[in-house]
Amino acid sequence: MSGPGSVQHLREHLTRLHLELPKNGLVTWTSGNISARVPGGLLIKPSGVTFEDLSPEQLVHTDLDANVLESGLSPSSDTATHAYIYRHLPEVGGIVHTHSPYATAWAANAREIPCFLTAMADEFGGPIPCGGFAPIGGEEIGAEVVRVLRGHRSPAIILQNHGVFTVGKTPKDALKAAVMCEDVARTAFLAVQLGQPVPLDPADIDRLYTRYTTVYGQRAAQPGEPTP
Ligand SMILES: [Zn+2]
Repeated sequence: MSGPGSVQHLREHLTRLHLELPKNGLVTWTSGNISARVPGGLLIKPSGVTFEDLSPEQLVHTDLDANVLESGLSPSSDTATHAYIYRHLPEVGGIVHTHSPYATAWAANAREIPCFLTAMADEFGGPIPCGGFAPIGGEEIGAEVVRVLRGHRSPAIILQNHGVFTVGKTPKDALKAAVMCEDVARTAFLAVQLGQPVPLDPADIDRLYTRYTTVYGQRAAQPGEPTP
């Protein structure tokens, strides 16, 4: 089967999404990866392959314990992290990991990204949280991501001394969160250089987040209805 919804279709989609990482300035060389949940497992970028060279058949299929299910390339060294997140957050269908520079600069300082901007209240429902340091390669990073993001409004977390993980219902949702995370991290960084940015009031953050997540976007407008 190769139509929409098939694993082959998902492989092609995931390969295209990976090209958005360098295009949006989120990755350097081979660092960074995207995964997608598939029944009983996940698809993830192979280790050490550049984004331009990545092809759909190179994506690695593993189970949710990060065991490789098909012969081929070795999976990303972050696979155990992705698998842990899928096992513990059943609503997550896609995960993105980057070391995007502005967000990672906040992570290097172990500082959450404060909510200075309406766009941040919309997308993240408040500050982007900073998780603690965790070693690479095992499940510790996944455990830290799940500890912080479970029940949290933010689909993004920065991890101390490391980088960014974002989650979404789909890999494209997680990618959008990664792009927006870097965008607000950059603006927040610039704002701090200018002086003392004013954090949004929590009540205003709540109103903005509710409006954005329930009203904003395309739906069938009714004649005479006021613009939201
Ligand atoms: Zn990393």
